[in-house]
Amino acid sequence: MKTLIEPFKIKSIEEIPITTREQRERYLANAFYNPFFLRSEYVTIDLLTDSGTTALSSKQWAGLMDGDEAYAGSRSYYKFEDAVKEITGLKHIIPTHQGRAAEKILFTIAAKPGIVIPSNSHFDTTRGNIEYAGAEAIDNLVDVGSKPEVEAPFKGNMDLEKLRKLILEKGRENIPLCMLTVTNNTSGGQPVSMQNIRETKALCKEFGIPLFLDACRFAENAYFIKKREPGYENKSIKEIAQEMFSYCDGATMSAKKDGLSNTGGFLALNDDAMAEQAKVLLIITEGFLTYGGMTRRDLEALAQGFEEVLNENYLEYRIGQVKYLGDKLLEAGVPILQPTGGHAVYLDAKRFAPHIAPENFPGQSVLCELYLISGVRAVEIGSLMFGKADTNGNSQSPEMELVRLAIPRRVYTKSHIDYIAEACIETYNNREKLRGMEITHEVEYLRHFTAKLKFI
Ligand SMILES: *Cc1c(COP(=O)(O)O)cnc(C)c1O
Repeated sequence: MKTLIEPFKIKSIEEIPITTREQRERYLANAFYNPFFLRSEYVTIDLLTDSGTTALSSKQWAGLMDGDEAYAGSRSYYKFEDAVKEITGLKHIIPTHQGRAAEKILFTIAAKPGIVIPSNSHFDTTRGNIEYAGAEAIDNLVDVGSKPEVEAPFKGNMDLEKLRKLILEKGRENIPLCMLTVTNNTSGGQPVSMQNIRETKALCKEFGIPLFLDACRFAENAYFIKKREPGYENKSIKEIAQEMFSYCDGATMSAKKDGLSNTGGFLALNDDAMAEQAKVLLIITEGFLTYGGMTRRDLEALAQGFEEVLNENYLEYRIGQVKYLGDKLLEAGVPILQPTGGHAVYLDAKRFAPHIAPENFPGQSVLCELYLISGVRAVEIGSLMFGKADTNGNSQSPEMELVRLAIPRRVYTKSHIDYIAEACIETYNNREKLRGMEITHEVEYLRHFTAKLKFI
């Protein structure tokens, strides 16, 4: 059979808002042309993020009822801990309410001025936490990773030459750990190969630097390894995930992604001394060791989610749904980052609106028009998210200007995807009318969340 079907049936539904263009014009102006300020009741299809937007399974809902809300020693915690240990093999599992809370704890311990934290590509909150601690966050992405039009199987990989150069230049003593983000969200949800994980580990080991996975989408990454890397075609997703984690000394995870849940995360570590420091910070900032800022029923949903996410039928549908959207756009000539990644389709705003300079936020302009046309909400990953002014006040832009259409897990059907494709195609057909934008208000860290903008 050729048709990709959702490997589930629907048991409970939530109505979605249908609005008019006139209404959306008002809503968007009132939101200062920043989709983060839009009320979700004005959004028809919400592709802002795949984080915490998962639909739970009936077994997860059953688990929520069965949660043991004890403050200490909850049975739900031990289920969660067992599930995480089974996959990661790491010794200390420190639960946090989401990924950035794990990052905050890790970098409170590891980062300070003078310190450098390398990665293939840091995600925005990871970079934010490192920079907030006064340290430097440096990306070492393979060159092909920032060429949206070039097809390659593992565009999320670490560039090992860049990493070696960085270690020699900055000095091993200033690099307390190295991160590797799987899949690489910032570079388009692109996977990292097992060979690259293995070689990154070998390089880190040569200098005695611990390797940490930013493991938000470890199962999606494992699926790509199975499909694209020779030698893995007959291994289970769980076996591949276990091998990925076997090369690392620690991990942070936002379980709002591949935990198939609405909240949660963890910091996992092998180092006893570091874990002890982390546990003190956990108790100060998040909660006790056996819940860390989550309700215990959330831990039940997560334990079940970690099992479901390893199911290959689920992953085939998940990655296939994203590809289905990407293929429809490519057929219509809409420029996207190729190949499609695990969790999102990324419109390439540089080719979409070449008449808008990076400092005038072409991606933001595209996503505003997309919303006005259809009520579809997307997010910019470009100059608004990562741009900065240099010391002379000139604006500096990242290499890519992207609009991310993140697909929530198990939420939207094929006809929703068809609607999204139509909306993108219509936006593309109107691209000459797109106008540049400027910021009217911003803050120093993670400005994209709260920036206010206007059209020039
Ligand atoms: C979402 C995400 C984070 C942060 O996790 P939150 O749960 O949103 O705090 C960190 N790294 C990557 C790669 C992510 O996608």
